[in-house]
Amino acid sequence: MADSLPTVIQLEIVTPDRQVVHESVTSVTIPGKEGYLGILPGHAPLLSELRAGTLIYTRAETKNYLAVSWGFAEVLPERVIILAHTAERAAEIDLARAERAFERAEKRLKDVSDPTVDRQRAEEAYARALARLQAARRTGV
Ligand code: ATP
Repeated sequence: MADSLPTVIQLEIVTPDRQVVHESVTSVTIPGKEGYLGILPGHAPLLSELRAGTLIYTRAETKNYLAVSWGFAEVLPERVIILAHTAERAAEIDLARAERAFERAEKRLKDVSDPTVDRQRAEEAYARALARLQAARRTGV
């Protein structure tokens, strides 16, 4: 008899500072480097780099939003492990701080004549701030 497919995923999201999520969930949408990955229980194993973006997981029919930035996702049929540089649940995000970071980065990126601007750093700060604004507003996927 064929093994039955798993119906849930153990989701773990960790950063260098803390464990952010350790829950049994029914789906996960991950901001992978090449685009969003939709994961259901029983998914084939894969490894993906993360970009800054919104991660959404469903538990008890409720969608939960987080902002994550950089790192890796390991997908297994019954488990998803996210090792991220930063991760915040939507309710933890300080919207005013993210707006300030977004405006600062946007200003730096617009000022093409300023040779002291580290563009890559500004682009990364912009992406992190945008991910936080989108997760806090529960949009962005
Ligand atoms: P800022 O310029 O506002 O510090 P940043 O993108 O440089 O933003 P990070 O280096 O990504 O900040 O994060 C540093 C720490 O602060 C991490 O623990 C991260 O989770 C937290 N953090 C950053 N921005 C916010 C925010 N808007 N709301 C809640 N926590 C945040």
